[in-house]
Amino acid sequence: MNKILIKSANVVNEGKITNTDILIVNERIEKIAPNQSESNSLIIEAEGLYLFPGVIDDQVHFREPGLTHKATIQSESKAAIAGGITSFMDMPNTIPNTLTLELLEEKYAIAAKSSLANYSFFMGINKDNLEEAIKVDTENVCGITDDGLYFNNDEGILANYPDYLEKLFARSETLIALHSENDAIIRYNTEKYKKIYNDDIPFRFHPLIRSEEACLEATKSVLDIARKHNNRLHLFHISTLKEANLFDNTLPVSQKRITAEACIHHLWFSDKDYERLGANIKWNPAIKTVQDKTGLLAALLDNRLDIIATDHAPHTTEEKKGNYFKAMSGGPLVQHALPAMLEFYHQGKISLERIAEKMSHNVAEIYKIKERGYIREGYYADLVLFDLNNPWKVNMENILSKCQWSPFENQVFSSKILQTIVNGNLVYDKGSFNENINGLRMKFSKIR
Ligand SMILES: [Zn+2]
Repeated sequence: MNKILIKSANVVNEGKITNTDILIVNERIEKIAPNQSESNSLIIEAEGLYLFPGVIDDQVHFREPGLTHKATIQSESKAAIAGGITSFMDMPNTIPNTLTLELLEEKYAIAAKSSLANYSFFMGINKDNLEEAIKVDTENVCGITDDGLYFNNDEGILANYPDYLEKLFARSETLIALHSENDAIIRYNTEKYKKIYNDDIPFRFHPLIRSEEACLEATKSVLDIARKHNNRLHLFHISTLKEANLFDNTLPVSQKRITAEACIHHLWFSDKDYERLGANIKWNPAIKTVQDKTGLLAALLDNRLDIIATDHAPHTTEEKKGNYFKAMSGGPLVQHALPAMLEFYHQGKISLERIAEKMSHNVAEIYKIKERGYIREGYYADLVLFDLNNPWKVNMENILSKCQWSPFENQVFSSKILQTIVNGNLVYDKGSFNENINGLRMKFSKIR
């Protein structure tokens, strides 16, 4: 029997911070109560430290299969665990694109053998695979999405095809998650700047090319269709305040039919940083203005936005080089997402309770994940223990993502993740990993 007793941790859970002990037996949390003692258990002394439910990241690109020169499920799940992320949901723009149920199951098989974190994989949806996509097993797959697939075809993002979305939304009984940007507006803006700069468009124009208007138009159109069909829609990586204002904050997250997220890079960086960081902060949707950045955090705090994700999308340093058109969009974030949010806590911008809510509880609510996302007796023991006052600097030596760079390089974070427990196993322990135990496939309630 595998037993761990965490002593005197400040447990941050469900809107409260409680100093207590947590006994883990095998995969699950057995007992939450102060002053416990237990023979034959590993004791973790957590006096002065903080314990969160493991972070659940609903948007990562771990690049396997097909793009393993950038990243693998093994390498990135390891970086995620070191960042306190115990569960992830991965996007379908791997090679081949995840457009059939058979290809989808192949990804689960890879993760079962190599992922240190718990996992789910989105089924890909494009204009040709509606019948296949809607057959997806909703209790075993997190949802269907078009995210990232626009890189591999000329048709672009589904938000640009309202007639097709009507058909999809009318037929689908599972959660649909979308990337929403308007292709026509982006094309128009690209041509405009190309006329001035040819291929050498300065990176600071990225948010004027993939513009606020491009995001807003697409998001409005998608919301209209989803509301008509009362679909369970989730919008990834909202990057503008104007879009955030389109979402409802009157219903509790568990009752919302339409939910949305902000990502770490849109909360941390702004268009002021392009000069300094260039292609290293080139993302789609683009990082926008300071007003958008602060507006997104405000929208998280007043519940128009529901969760925080990473959109972790590594490329090699070589692939991030070159002119505006050559340098690929995306970068690694899973290792630094929670430390970045804890930095906001130090700056007085968000409480620890709200971080746990937005990075763990609400993700479980949105996807109706079974027995994860909270620190509760009987639930899986997915936990992250951190020290709020243990400063460290991001550098080449401690970046774990396979691509070996980070937009956070040289950033000093005040808080350090010390230990991460996944399904009751101490997988990350102050810099070392237990790589012998793999995570589990997440399960979901049928009614979403
Ligand atoms: Zn996307």
